[in-house]
Amino acid sequence: MYRRLPVYLLLDTSESMAGEPLDRVEAGVATMVNSLKRNPYALDTVHMCVITFDAKARVVTPLTDIGNVKPPILSIKPGTSLGAALDLLGQSIEKNLVKNTAETKGDYKPLVFILTDGQPTDDWTSAVSKLKNVTPHVATIYGIGCGDEVDFETLSKIADVCFHVKDLNSDGIGKLFVWLTASVQSNSKSPDQKVSLEKTIPLEKGMELVESPPAFSGQKSRLFIHIFCRNTKKPYMVIYRLIPELGQYFSDQALPLPDDFFSDGAKKSSPINEEQLLNVPPCPFCQSEGFAKCGFCKNLFCVDSDSSDSVITCPACETKLSPSESGGSINIDGSAG
Ligand SMILES: [Zn+2]
Ligand SMILES: [Zn+2]
Repeated sequence: MYRRLPVYLLLDTSESMAGEPLDRVEAGVATMVNSLKRNPYALDTVHMCVITFDAKARVVTPLTDIGNVKPPILSIKPGTSLGAALDLLGQSIEKNLVKNTAETKGDYKPLVFILTDGQPTDDWTSAVSKLKNVTPHVATIYGIGCGDEVDFETLSKIADVCFHVKDLNSDGIGKLFVWLTASVQSNSKSPDQKVSLEKTIPLEKGMELVESPPAFSGQKSRLFIHIFCRNTKKPYMVIYRLIPELGQYFSDQALPLPDDFFSDGAKKSSPINEEQLLNVPPCPFCQSEGFAKCGFCKNLFCVDSDSSDSVITCPACETKLSPSESGGSINIDGSAG
């Protein structure tokens, strides 16, 4: 019987990954899978499992030999349920891993790569202690934090080795997947070696080893606001960035959201005053240049600032609102991603 090298990818699909970062990760996984399929060593040993985490954690690709892995399509949801993803990882390892016996050698030690750009929003501590205490040293876990809002304090408690990929928007993620692919290829050639990957495969430009994780400040430099288009009823998201000198948020990005974005619920909101927002980017569906808040369902929806409608129908709850029941510069529930 041949021995397998299980490779687990745990991917953050929370809303803070929306837009280019998620596209890059999706393309990166596809390139990685296709390269591994062409590598004879990898083809012989690598089995891959992909787990995503946002409002929930899901196994999008169960542990499958690399030759039969179809690169997954990723979509975003609010929330960062890393604890739930670690639970799924533990369950898969427990269920699928072939252990050493007196007669045969079992699977090689799995490689686990966790990719995140933020902070877990669920309880991860019990999942970690289950993973680490019940089955010690069962896998080598690499924590990869992308961007400038990563909680490395937490990630370093979960992972054996942590990396920082500073650039979330340009080719930082592409380079990361080049490194991941090379690492898995090298490990599939000699899966028994005890040397850690970062010591065998030179890090790509933009990647950095995190040796002493900094304490997490909790500072949110970005803010995510969900809005419903009044004309199409479709949801979109405005991504605001803090301008520290002003203490106000600016946005140049309004992104359409998938129709099922709210289906798993779990909105993590932190109130923000509308006066903290420097601008309102146009609705990506109808180009309206403002938004109002429904007095009933509290959802936001796009409106034209020069609209003279006497009655407005809320696209989220269908309530007919008079102008006094919508708008109003009160607290908007933004989400922390
Ligand atoms: Zn609109
Ligand atoms: Zn409403």
